[in-house]
Amino acid sequence: MFNNLSDRLTLTFKNLRSKGRVTDSDINATIRDIRVALLDADVSLPVVRAFTSRVRERALGAEVHEALNPGQQVVKIVNDELVEILGGQTRPIRLAKQPPTVIMLAGLQGSGKTTLAGKLGYWLKQQGHTPMLVAADLQRPNAVTQLEVVGERAGVPVFAPERGNVAGYDAAVEYGSGTRGYGDPITVARQGVAEAQRQQRDVVIVDTAGRLAIDTELMQQAADIRSAIEPDEVLFVVDAMIGQAAVDTAVAFSDGVDFTGVVLSKLDGDARGGAALSIAHVTGRPIMFASTGEQTKDFEVFHPDRMASRILD
Ligand code: GDP
Repeated sequence: MFNNLSDRLTLTFKNLRSKGRVTDSDINATIRDIRVALLDADVSLPVVRAFTSRVRERALGAEVHEALNPGQQVVKIVNDELVEILGGQTRPIRLAKQPPTVIMLAGLQGSGKTTLAGKLGYWLKQQGHTPMLVAADLQRPNAVTQLEVVGERAGVPVFAPERGNVAGYDAAVEYGSGTRGYGDPITVARQGVAEAQRQQRDVVIVDTAGRLAIDTELMQQAADIRSAIEPDEVLFVVDAMIGQAAVDTAVAFSDGVDFTGVVLSKLDGDARGGAALSIAHVTGRPIMFASTGEQTKDFEVFHPDRMASRILD
């Protein structure tokens, strides 16, 4: 991910870094190159505009002209502004004062939620926490089994509706038409949180259903689960490979469930990745984690400064 963008910007900066003197026209040419590189990488237009105008303002100002090495100074400005676009500071998980901390996962089907539940659980365990996963994705009967497999791999217990309760799953599928029952995801989410409390687990991660595309029923279900369990964090999981659609999906989920943080998944892919760079700026919510593969350990805390360096160096 970001290889192309990174190569292009490296080339742009190579010349600039070596310049002892930087003229306004050098700066304008550099900004033009950056703009094209970002747009080619799929970064959304409003984000590109905000970014280049900040860079231009600072680069054309006294900051550069008085600097000892103006070329390097421009590179630094671009780096600073990229860090800002990516959310500025690393944002840690907000832990509840009264455990358990409740983390709800939301996102489209296939975005990597279930996989992430295991990764996050494993990572939290490494940090000394005692997580539990809750299978409130009752859309597909397989999703529960999948979470159980993921939990086992991560060594994290899973709360799921009673096995073989197909009627329960069916009830969940009919969510929205008034059907409630054992398999109602809201009930399961609530029971899962209560169970975590009973077992004195300090973090509970609730996996929810996704669909292939955004629809009002899905969003309503996610919003209803949110109101029922009052999570400390709602993490929106988004596949970084889906390009511009990632930004539209983020906006829809931001309106629908008001998530508190973003997880970029599939950052190991070779898509252009620019959409992923737009999400923090467009939604005003921080990117908190990155998922970088199919294995439990392919997971990292998202550091805007490190990501910016990775793109620019
Ligand atoms: P969900 O429907 O949102 O729960 O998505 P899943 O967790 O089932 O993931 C969908 C597919 O993407 C699965 O085949 C996962 O193995 C794969 N996947 C999830 N996260 C990543 C990732 O970070 N990188 C890669 N390459 N694949 C991933």
